[in-house]
Amino acid sequence: MPAPAALHRDSVPDALSVLNSVFGLPAFRGAQEEIVRHVTDGGNCLVLMPTGGGKSLCYQLPSLLREGCGIVVSPLIALMRDQVAGLLEAGVNAAVLNSTLSFDEASEVERRLLAGDLDLLYVAPERLLTPRCLSLLGQANIALFAIDEAHCVSQWGHDFRPEYIGLSAIAERFPDVPRIALTATADAMTRKEIVTRLGLSDAPSFISSFDRPNIRYEIVEKQNAPAQLKAFISERHAGDAGIVYCLSRAKVEDTAQALSSAGIAALPYHAGLDAGVRARNQDRFINEDGVVIVATIAFGMGIDKPDVRFVAHLDLPKSIEAYYQETGRAGRDGKASSAWMAYGLSDIVQQRRMIDESTASDAFKRVSIGKLDALVALAETAGCRRSRLLGYFGEEVTGSNCGNCDNCLSPPQLRDGKVAAQKLLSCAYRTGQRFGAMHLIDVLVGRLTEKVTQFGHDKLSVFGIGRELNEKQWRAVIRQLVAMGHLRADSEAFNALKLTESARGVLKGETEIMLREAAPGTRVRASRAKS
Ligand code: ADP
Ligand code: ZN
Repeated sequence: MPAPAALHRDSVPDALSVLNSVFGLPAFRGAQEEIVRHVTDGGNCLVLMPTGGGKSLCYQLPSLLREGCGIVVSPLIALMRDQVAGLLEAGVNAAVLNSTLSFDEASEVERRLLAGDLDLLYVAPERLLTPRCLSLLGQANIALFAIDEAHCVSQWGHDFRPEYIGLSAIAERFPDVPRIALTATADAMTRKEIVTRLGLSDAPSFISSFDRPNIRYEIVEKQNAPAQLKAFISERHAGDAGIVYCLSRAKVEDTAQALSSAGIAALPYHAGLDAGVRARNQDRFINEDGVVIVATIAFGMGIDKPDVRFVAHLDLPKSIEAYYQETGRAGRDGKASSAWMAYGLSDIVQQRRMIDESTASDAFKRVSIGKLDALVALAETAGCRRSRLLGYFGEEVTGSNCGNCDNCLSPPQLRDGKVAAQKLLSCAYRTGQRFGAMHLIDVLVGRLTEKVTQFGHDKLSVFGIGRELNEKQWRAVIRQLVAMGHLRADSEAFNALKLTESARGVLKGETEIMLREAAPGTRVRASRAKS
């Protein structure tokens, strides 16, 4: 006599055969099979899988295997449309319910849902939470709820969407319908928030490796960023498609212009551009070969272009999650790709200022500062970038050398930086913790600038005690001390560098400080030396 499980398996179409026949795929990838089985059997779960890992199948297949219609909550209208188009092509009865539909179109979708005529229905969260939609779902036969981009529920995250908070209603109203939450970005805190808000505390998490071995991580010191970017593209990625991220619209425009005049096919993309221009630039990026799009972070979510060969950052993202997500748009096809970032002290200062000047709560600011600090530490590390990055997501990396990041490929020279750190911190202290990097360096290398004389800093014991390093090397020292948390830039005091509590241990010689050497190619701004 066959076991009950076997009986059950005979009565519903086998998952693998649906994978073959409907999706045209030969086999499951990674944890997909386990997840599909779990959800098909009625279980709740959280799925953490990197972009391109194949999350969609994890809810699409169970929707087909279970009775009723799978409800997919997604914040991205464009993505919903694409997915539904693909599903219809594969012969799946799929539809969307969002603000782009006319009343009649929406009514027709609702009718089909009630008639049991749909396998998958994509709904925008704000739509789902309307009383009308909730009562409609109450009358329908629902296979499961899939909450895509589930990190949007996190108030601390970089993609917070207030309408996602309301999704906790799903667990309350439909406790017996399986829920599957999916995301490609989640640090421990975000993960916890998803679990709490979506009622998944008893549910397993399926966590795939977030490693993207084909992406080479590289973070360089910002000197002349436009020139560095041009060199990076023309030497390493000539003719390749890529994305360049900038913080401001003005910088997007300038950078696109600069690349174009260097003969690189670059187009701007930001929210201030005319919608037509934006759509055209996006289309060209997706459909033509070798187009570089220069964009604010508004660009990229939901864009599925497999052959993006590089992602470049000219400004520091807000967090490691944001960095991971943005760089993750490179190399979805699995081929060698680059994640390149130019960063400098001014980036830290700028991000700090944006946090300090925001109207957010103190708690939010504290969390944001912690996230920024973690990213700065990644930028300043002398160790493997990949293991830092994955470590942030709680993933252990075997071996300390990934062989595909700048630090592993050419390990930076480390030297004892105790004395340099003490000189710098003393200089900040003796000058009253009221000055920024440039002035402190002037004092250390003994430059008689107007400001130095004006404040009588040439009379201080720290004047000229740092001549053994040049300006660029001192900047590197400052950045690393900021990254280590011994020094911080106070945005409320013109970015004056101030000592933190931990600086005491450095000054007393109790804390060991190893610093990485500034990259070669040192060029001091010669003119200042004479002033
Ligand atoms: P995600 O939502 O995690 O970013 P998708 O679900 O969009 O990823 O899948 C990314 C790509 O991987 C798609 O082109 C999809 O067809 C493909 N894919 C997913 N699962 C498999 C599989 N088991 N075998 C082969 N290709 C797959
Ligand atoms: Zn590495």
